[in-house]
Amino acid sequence: MRDALTVDIKGIKCDNASCDYNDESVKVEDYYTWLNKPCPKCGDNLLTEADYKGVQALIAFTSKLNGYVMKNMIPLNQEERVAATLGMNGSGEVEFKSIEIVKEETPD
Ligand SMILES: [Zn+2]
Repeated sequence: MRDALTVDIKGIKCDNASCDYNDESVKVEDYYTWLNKPCPKCGDNLLTEADYKGVQALIAFTSKLNGYVMKNMIPLNQEERVAATLGMNGSGEVEFKSIEIVKEETPD
């Protein structure tokens, strides 16, 4: 059975709304190396401890949710998955910007 929810967290962006610094190549596993690092463009904090903890909590939540779905066998449509776009702004709050059900192309 596939995971009901997968989180695809990557990239680091500046929290400063008037700054466009964004590095999509940063992996979530490497976020700890970005903790409290200044933005190379404007000097603002790129990843606050609150946001870092938010991400860790989200990952823990995802694995908990998937464990629950597995245990309770909530039926899922085979081709459907939930795609959520998340935003963080330095406060530690992880905000759902959009949640939609998308059809997944099956390779066969
Ligand atoms: Zn910046």
